[in-house]
Amino acid sequence: MTALLRVAEPLGRDWFSIPWEIVYKTTGLTPQTLPGVRTMADHPVEKLAPRTSIEYAKQAGASAFRPFLHRVHRSHLPVIGFVPPPTVDLSLLEDDVEILRPYQLDGVRFLRERCGALLLDAQRVGKTPQVVYAHEPEYGPLVVVGPVASRTPWHEWAARRFGRCQEICSLCDRVGAKASDKPSFVSLDGRTPDLALLQLGAACYFLTYAVVDPWSEQFAAFGEIGTLVIDEAHLSLQHRKNVTAVGIKRLAACSYRRIGLSGTIMWNKPAGLFPILDIICPAAFGDYWPFCIKYAAARPSEHGWIADGVSNEGELEKRLSAIALRRTWEDVQKDLPKIIRSVEYVPLDNEAHAKVYDAANEIRKSLGERPQTVVGNLARLCKLYAETKLARAVELIRETISAGQSLVAWTWHREIASSLAEELGAVPWVFGPIHGQLPPAAREQILEEAREEPGPRVLIATMGALGTAVSLNWATQEVFLEIHWTAAIISQAEARPYDGTRPIAATYLVADSDPDRRQCDAILAKLTTADRLGLGAKAGSAADVLATVFQIARGKSLDAIAELIAAGEAL
Ligand SMILES: [Zn+2]
Repeated sequence: MTALLRVAEPLGRDWFSIPWEIVYKTTGLTPQTLPGVRTMADHPVEKLAPRTSIEYAKQAGASAFRPFLHRVHRSHLPVIGFVPPPTVDLSLLEDDVEILRPYQLDGVRFLRERCGALLLDAQRVGKTPQVVYAHEPEYGPLVVVGPVASRTPWHEWAARRFGRCQEICSLCDRVGAKASDKPSFVSLDGRTPDLALLQLGAACYFLTYAVVDPWSEQFAAFGEIGTLVIDEAHLSLQHRKNVTAVGIKRLAACSYRRIGLSGTIMWNKPAGLFPILDIICPAAFGDYWPFCIKYAAARPSEHGWIADGVSNEGELEKRLSAIALRRTWEDVQKDLPKIIRSVEYVPLDNEAHAKVYDAANEIRKSLGERPQTVVGNLARLCKLYAETKLARAVELIRETISAGQSLVAWTWHREIASSLAEELGAVPWVFGPIHGQLPPAAREQILEEAREEPGPRVLIATMGALGTAVSLNWATQEVFLEIHWTAAIISQAEARPYDGTRPIAATYLVADSDPDRRQCDAILAKLTTADRLGLGAKAGSAADVLATVFQIARGKSLDAIAELIAAGEAL
């Protein structure tokens, strides 16, 4: 191994030049036995997009063309028993490091040490902040390609690190973003690219898969991308040759660093990994069929070649470990707070928009009338929102279940709980809905069955029916389809699966519409402040919290009291 250390010459961050003789003597491997290892005869440069070839030619330098020296990608190193020394100085992060948890800091280090990497941490472990802080703005903007559902966290973290997206933005308000000269976050929504948006010089651009193709040409013409992120990479690259994949390849060709994110990648289907690997580390894993013959048990059949199996599993795993980082919920839980809250905005379609508009008008008209009428109308609005969130909730629940986690899905209204159960269909891992109208015996039976179920499962319940005195500690995740107006009710529901031994992740689905966003922001601000003051489920009302603030304040210094009052005011 020491021989390897002496002779391996780094060529940039991801490629190394190693005399093949030595590799052969150490491991018995020849260039032919590893897809992606290139000899001079099949040098990959001409197969890559023009900008990438220049980049790689630069990285590879002259030594790639010297006989008996081979360019070896980072992903080969574990197979040949070689660990490169770390190259990154984390002091680059300055004071930002304080808001990252220890395992997230490890993630930042891992990403910064590589030009191409996969971050495969489990869902809701917090992949977004790791990428935002691994990004080095001097190389160009952070460009994220992902599903609409992932837009909010990127916006939030870009605002935390780079300042506000624009003057008026409730989301930037919520995270306390500072003013900035250039927008921190711009979402590129239109299918017709508008060059003016790229000229804004935003720190982070977000694109959905649907618009990648037209925008990718603009980016390719515009300049270097610092970090290209393919969020939920397993969704975007399922087909090697579709338009989205072509657009992403075009973006990758002009990116300094490429990161693929996924919490639910299919390890048991190596052939499906290839398109992601080919974009993240072009040329490193060779071509599709040699890769599949080596790792996906590809074989000829009556209908041409098929590659649906697994082969040389251990070697692929070793190679992936050089470029992929994966931590499970269990791996990181000691670093996590009690409850991790995240908010996801769900877009409203036109029909829902019209209905919401009508309901809001009714509310305005009824304001002078009896309070019951107002409350009734507000509840109607809330239900309208919940209906639009159903489809996303179903998706989220299925993702969580297939990632092996159990969850509780909370609603406010009985109808919404029932609709959710219907949408999920009659599958054995769905329990409930539990709501106030259910006889106690039936309720107990459902709870018992859910507790006994050995595999990942979901329990659907209304917050009112199951808020208190029930332990649901078999679940690690929660999703809220509706947001109750009373912080205490949310906070009690939130705490049900928590048993003090491991953290809980709660996702709030919020309709991308002003009233729902405001309500969610207000409730979450209350919950966060209550957490800070250690009130937990007692976060009944602003008055309770203030009373506690003054109780705690007794015997404290004036500064401490001022801070506590400021916290109370946030309510
Ligand atoms: Zn903003």
